[in-house]
Amino acid sequence: MTARSVTLIGLGPMGLAMANAYLDNGYDLTVWNRTAGRADDLVARGARRADTVEDALKANDLVVMSLTDYDAFYAILEQAPEALAGRTVANLTSDTPDRAREATEWVAARGGVQLTAGVLVPPPGIGTPDAVSYYSGPKDALETHRETLEVLTQIDYLGDDPGLAALYYQIGIDMFWTGLVAYLHGQAIAKANGISAQQFLPHAVKTMDFRYFLEFYAPRLDAGNDEGDVDTLSMGAASLEHVIHTAKSSGVDVSLPSAVLDLFHRAIAAGHGRDSLTSLTKVLTR
Ligand code: NDP
Repeated sequence: MTARSVTLIGLGPMGLAMANAYLDNGYDLTVWNRTAGRADDLVARGARRADTVEDALKANDLVVMSLTDYDAFYAILEQAPEALAGRTVANLTSDTPDRAREATEWVAARGGVQLTAGVLVPPPGIGTPDAVSYYSGPKDALETHRETLEVLTQIDYLGDDPGLAALYYQIGIDMFWTGLVAYLHGQAIAKANGISAQQFLPHAVKTMDFRYFLEFYAPRLDAGNDEGDVDTLSMGAASLEHVIHTAKSSGVDVSLPSAVLDLFHRAIAAGHGRDSLTSLTKVLTR
């Protein structure tokens, strides 16, 4: 075990990018993966393939994990739970805040410490200067292993609660998927009308630059101010009707804008027709 030494468990696209970043930086790397053959190229580059989970855990103080979900995490660590004693697990696997908290307790009950993280870049971003991950969990463990973790991404530390990294990650992913599907939906209307994705791209970039709106609404959301002085739900509903008609006449599925219109109608039915878009939070929050 050396100071520049780490174990990595999980060699999907993300884990492979992480393993290569450690090798690029001269780390002494031990890897384990359920499908052992995925480590072949890494072994050719100098990584050590552990034969068992126990061997992988015992090889280093810091064990980085990058898996599909926490089911995979338990499936692996239950093979050698006693080997967690004294180890720090940096769990860079996405899952829910509750599962991140449960897993932290599970690791602690076996004498280990867990840091949780949510990686905010795709695999090619690993090891690049602007890459960032959310982290939460015990600050002292983070500081002990900061240098090794920063080989992968910068660290945005959110606090002691192990669920925080997962929570911030899931909030961002909520915005990411719905926003990106909206982009695909708009591009489908463009395509149906003979406009290529590249042709529409500069217009999409302008339309989807929401910064002004995000900053405008944030203080109003915090203050509970739904004043309809610049926008109203009634106006928004009429606008969405136009989108749905345009999509329909283009032969494009309307389930996405219809779901948004349904939210608008529910808020209008609750008396918010003359209020701002922010009053949608009244139907979004149960
Ligand atoms: P994958 O789903 O491809 O990860 C697969 C890894 O999990 C493999 O090592 C696989 O092993 C292992 N695994 C899955 N199920 C089990 C199981 N039951 N037992 C043992 N091992 C199991 O994900 P990625 O590599 O793409 O991503 C890893 C994490 O990073 C995920 O949580 C993802 O949400 C997150 N992330 C991914 C991004 C991306 O763009 N890829 C971006 C940001 C975050 P095997 O090889 O044997 O199948």
